Amino acid sequence: RAKSEGRDTFRFYEHAMGLEARSRRIMEHELRHAVARNEFHLVYQPQKTLDSGELIGYEALLRWRHPERGNVSPGTFIPVAEESGAIVPIGEWVLKTACQAAAGWKSNLMIAVNVSAVQLHSMNFAQTVHRILLETGLSPHRLEIEITETALVRDMHRALATLRQLKTLGIRVAMDDFGTGYSSLSNLRAFPFDKIKIDGSFIRQVDTNEQAATIVRAVLGIGRGLGLPVLAEGVETSGELSFLAKELCQIGQGYYLGRPSPLDDLQEDGIQAEEKHSDANAA
Ligand code: C2E
Ligand code: MG
Ligand code: MG
Ligand code: MG
Repeated sequence: RAKSEGRDTFRFYEHAMGLEARSRRIMEHELRHAVARNEFHLVYQPQKTLDSGELIGYEALLRWRHPERGNVSPGTFIPVAEESGAIVPIGEWVLKTACQAAAGWKSNLMIAVNVSAVQLHSMNFAQTVHRILLETGLSPHRLEIEITETALVRDMHRALATLRQLKTLGIRVAMDDFGTGYSSLSNLRAFPFDKIKIDGSFIRQVDTNEQAATIVRAVLGIGRGLGLPVLAEGVETSGELSFLAKELCQIGQGYYLGRPSPLDDLQEDGIQAEEKHSDANAA
């Protein structure tokens, strides 16, 4: 009862005082304390090869459980954290937590972590990543950083220098949400990506919509030509999956292949299953 009153009061203020500015200010403040208050956790979504269905790794996705408002979606709070700069310490927490989790797995699965523009351009980003790898003991070859194009356009020179430093460490870099930015093709040429992630909006109904199919085939052709594996995001149906497999898309991610889940649930799902698999082979 008290909780729902709190929520109503909050909504009232949002309307009374100019929704955007005020609620953003409140959220900025809350985000600055959310790491220390243990309000964040990560969920992990499987990435699988499309020919054999083999699990190759997980993407870490950030979740914020607000004490009064419940789960707030990253689409809502990440832009606020980026604008206030809070994304830098939050992103460091994400990297550290994800690398620590992966270092504890029994198999050598890879871990993909989203890095925002502000973080990529923050002071000594590559050194921070290097330190986290040393602290957690994760091999750099198991870490992949996902970057959207908007991260690159701010300051191309600096972005390129940082990406090169990361690659020197042995980390892989994936272009996230491919096709949704303004200059996907020139960015693909200018930056040393190791993987293309086609945005889920292009995968929707790819098996029944000729236009979507044409675009996806073209991206797969670019990947083949450049020698870069392509991952399809947001695979939701068996029809989408069979289209992608038939067109030789190498990797998939999406609800049809596995939902994002907390670390404890993975133990049974992916990672233990891998172990069982190798036990069975040994027997
Ligand atoms: P993204 O990196 O492109 O992540 C994929 C998003 O698609 C995730 O949303 C995931 O839950 C969702 N998704 C996965 N499979 C499906 C599917 O089959 N259908 C549909 N409709 N959606 C699917 P989520 O977790 O809400 O994250 C949204 C975005 O927020 C991410 O997009 C990423 O840009 C950002 N984000 C999430 N975690 C972090 C983080 O730790 N750091 C930063 N900087 N950004 C993050
Ligand atoms: Mg991503
Ligand atoms: Mg994406
Ligand atoms: Mg996205």
